[in-house]
Amino acid sequence: MTSRRPDAIIVGAGIVGAACAVALARDGKRVLVLDAAAAALGTTAAGMGHLVVMDDSPEQLALTRYSTSLWARQDEPLRVASELEWCGTVWVAEDGAQLEGVRAKQQLYAEHGIATEVLDEQSLVDAEPQLRRGLAGGLLVASDGVIYPPSAALALLARARELGAEVRERTAVLLGMELRRPHRPRPVQHGSRSRSSIRTTARSRKASSPARAPIKTSP
Ligand SMILES: Cc1cc2nc3c(=O)[nH]c(=O)nc-3n(C[C@H](O)[C@H](O)[C@H](O)COP(=O)(O)OP(=O)(O)OC[C@H]3O[C@@H](n4cnc5c(N)ncnc54)[C@H](O)[C@@H]3O)c2cc1C
Repeated sequence: MTSRRPDAIIVGAGIVGAACAVALARDGKRVLVLDAAAAALGTTAAGMGHLVVMDDSPEQLALTRYSTSLWARQDEPLRVASELEWCGTVWVAEDGAQLEGVRAKQQLYAEHGIATEVLDEQSLVDAEPQLRRGLAGGLLVASDGVIYPPSAALALLARARELGAEVRERTAVLLGMELRRPHRPRPVQHGSRSRSSIRTTARSRKASSPARAPIKTSP
């Protein structure tokens, strides 16, 4: 790769750049990934990693459903390296009106082939004992999951490298305005949030709850 021009240069070794690198390298393209800092330390290091189908718009529903299905189709080593767990999501309804919203959501998801379960007050407590009492119920979407985004990005970059891609860190791509003034390299920030703080929610739930589902607060 070093002696030949790349077919594609990807700016940014976060989870998006890493996924693009795998896709292009898999298609036989010569791929070069550049990152001003280090891989997986940008927004990717702050993300919760929730693989969740959402329905704020038909487009969002189609896209998030497709995206989640892509994760389900990844091979086992990549899923393991990404720390993927199909833990599900619980959309919590505080009162009767929100429970109606939950039922409408269930109907919509069913129309798109997504199986869900409406939880009544007691089933919600059984599923998530750490929630406060007195909630009306919820909707369990068992096919949602969670990954650890930095691990996923690094696993994807490793896969891209196996397929021939080159990854260069501490290599900033200057934008038009930056080219007009002397470039001062930005300091590399090694994760202002530690790995354990990012995963606190999932890990604490792992210890305290059988369901471990990420929780959304309104339908
Ligand atoms: C608090 C929080 C929670 C989130 N939770 C979720 C969630 O549950 N589920 C979900 O799907 N999404 C979630 N997201 C969104 C998700 O994290 C981002 O969409 C995703 O990480 C973006 O990845 P990226 O690769 O595009 O960007 P980044 O990870 O930011 O990567 C961009 C990279 O580009 C590099 N770069 C920038 N400029 C240059 C340059 N000029 N030259 C070279 N390199 C450059 C940076 O150094 C960086 O490494 C969350 C985001 C936040 C902030």
